Amino acid sequence: MRIGVPKEIKNHEYRVGLTPPSVAELVAAGHEVTVETRAGGGIDFEDQDYVAAGARIVATAAEVFAQSDMIVKVKEPQPQEIALLEPRHTLFTYLHLAADKPQAEGLMKSGATCIAYETVTSDSRSLPLLKPMSEVAGRMSVQVGAHYLEKEQGGRGVLLGGVPGVAPARVAILGGGVSGVNAAQMAVGMRADVTIYDINNDRLAELDMFFSSQIKTAYASKAAIAAAVKNAHLVIGAVLVPGAAAPKLVTREMVKTMKRGSVMVDIAIDQGGCFETSHATTHEDPVFEVDGVIHYCVANMPGAVARTSAFALNNATLPFALRLANLGAEAAMKADRHLANGLNVYQGKIAFKAVADDLDLPY
Ligand code: NAD
Repeated sequence: MRIGVPKEIKNHEYRVGLTPPSVAELVAAGHEVTVETRAGGGIDFEDQDYVAAGARIVATAAEVFAQSDMIVKVKEPQPQEIALLEPRHTLFTYLHLAADKPQAEGLMKSGATCIAYETVTSDSRSLPLLKPMSEVAGRMSVQVGAHYLEKEQGGRGVLLGGVPGVAPARVAILGGGVSGVNAAQMAVGMRADVTIYDINNDRLAELDMFFSSQIKTAYASKAAIAAAVKNAHLVIGAVLVPGAAAPKLVTREMVKTMKRGSVMVDIAIDQGGCFETSHATTHEDPVFEVDGVIHYCVANMPGAVARTSAFALNNATLPFALRLANLGAEAAMKADRHLANGLNVYQGKIAFKAVADDLDLPY
């Protein structure tokens, strides 16, 4: 199959659909890969790395689309990219259509087969192409939390791990799923005093076994969260109710009880945030204060570590990209129901019921 990789054009997006090692795998399987010049330039993948992996470099996105049957990207296509899509194309990328009617209508009009990373499933009923980004955001949340606890950043001047003779900082993690566990791993590694709160008792039991005595677990009752927030140096919001807005676990009143210079990282901000006081921020201006408490609420945290994130995303997407390339989109989806669950737009119609319902578009 002819596979194309355009340079991402969304503001501050440095990730790339295929890394050079992924290109080499596809080329070894007998496919042709065309990459737009400088597509990976922001994260140290030079054109010659792609050439060494077997790709052809072209000057423009228009050439990539014209010379390819499958387009592999990271972010949802922008209007100028949608204009380049044709019915023969398979588009494989994050789409997040449920909140983006103009994009959905544009993709319907293109006639392309559009497979969204975020709805591909796995046997364990998880979302394998979202998971790597939750891992990145979870691990990063502790790194940014530690940074903003420093005095110069407006923080309380507390070192997460303490030192011999000085107690470590208290870290409260709300939600013990993928991002919460990854946050806990980092916080434990830095020797912080970590508690994970969740409402899933089976999950709490698993975490208790997994971390043994390195962390504490607690049922996420309102009272437990209020007490945790009051005493914490760092609060990390990592909850998810699939398909719904994040529940507001931390109220404005609870934030008032916190010491000035404490830090809150709301990973769940892409689902509206789990702190009442949260609003989405960007990497250019990542934090704001409410009652002296620092809030970090960046909606695309993985973008800050774009090289790591590009590798992590490719690890997850490559097996599916290979299947699509080897069999063709239709046969690949017939053979793999999890990949078929990724189908969002097909032959001019929305092919994912929840998206069609949310946007009131034909299914
Ligand atoms: P997950 O499904 O793996 O885990 C969510 C956990 O929250 C589950 O264990 C669940 O039991 C728990 N939970 C649900 N309701 C709860 C409640 N009321 N109280 C306590 N716990 C509750 O989810 P995840 O992959 O870790 O993702 C978490 C959030 O992070 C999602 O909104 C995801 O979209 C977001 N995310 C954000 C970024 C970013 O850059 N900001 C990046 C990746 C993921």
